[in-house]
Amino acid sequence: MTPQIGNLIYQGKAKDVYETDDPEKVLVKFRDDITAGDGEKKDVINKKGYYNSIISAKFFEILQAAGVKTQYLDLINPGEMLSLRLEMIPLEIITRNIAAGSLIKKFPFKEGQKFDPPIIQMDYKSDEFHDPMLNEDIAVALGFSTRKDLEIIRKTTLKINQVLKEFLEIKGILFPDFKIEYGYDSQGNIVLGDEISPDTCRFWDNETCDVLDKDLFRKGESGVIEAYQKVASLILDVEDKKRWNLDF
Ligand code: UDP
Repeated sequence: MTPQIGNLIYQGKAKDVYETDDPEKVLVKFRDDITAGDGEKKDVINKKGYYNSIISAKFFEILQAAGVKTQYLDLINPGEMLSLRLEMIPLEIITRNIAAGSLIKKFPFKEGQKFDPPIIQMDYKSDEFHDPMLNEDIAVALGFSTRKDLEIIRKTTLKINQVLKEFLEIKGILFPDFKIEYGYDSQGNIVLGDEISPDTCRFWDNETCDVLDKDLFRKGESGVIEAYQKVASLILDVEDKKRWNLDF
């Protein structure tokens, strides 16, 4: 049954969150806005929200099947995701399998260096403070979470990495790094929220080494939407494509 949509309760840089007639559920609308550098670089890319929502839905479904609690309930239409209402924790949990991006700017790692076990990093989600890296002590002192819950977040993140890395490998995609966010549900459980898409992950074509993510936009290169479409095309199966009327 389609829920009744209520007030806009949160507006992020690429998504809007609306109340529904069920207090436990929200509707997340994926917009076509794209930003980089704390929101300083901005554009609108037609169909970006559409692809990010179907890619995120696919990843959430895979993770739920593997026993990870996620916010995802249903993709009502491409771009409109029915989700569990969460109180979000302002932490960006970044997992790194291959050195890239800010890590090689800040530390003497070589680009392409592999990490096994992966590196898990926490940043404070704040444009005002420019997303600084923080540790458990700071996150606990700021009242964002508890030590016990941060341990749950760490274990869950390692599992998410394992499940998605193996899935993507089969689809011919390398998974250098990604960012996820968690929140608390009404019972105080830690639940995976937000999105998992080319806006929030690095994806590299395993054969051609082509970049298939937001780095194209960050670097001012062309072919952003074609790259997002390629990720969707590689990860979705015939059934998914039928479900979303995709003809690629
Ligand atoms: N990331 C994100 N939001 C942020 C910062 C990073 O989704 O505000 C993602 C980014 O897309 C990449 C990973 O987290 O997949 C690691 O990003 P990094 O720290 O290398 O920062 P970047 O070089 O992207 O600024």
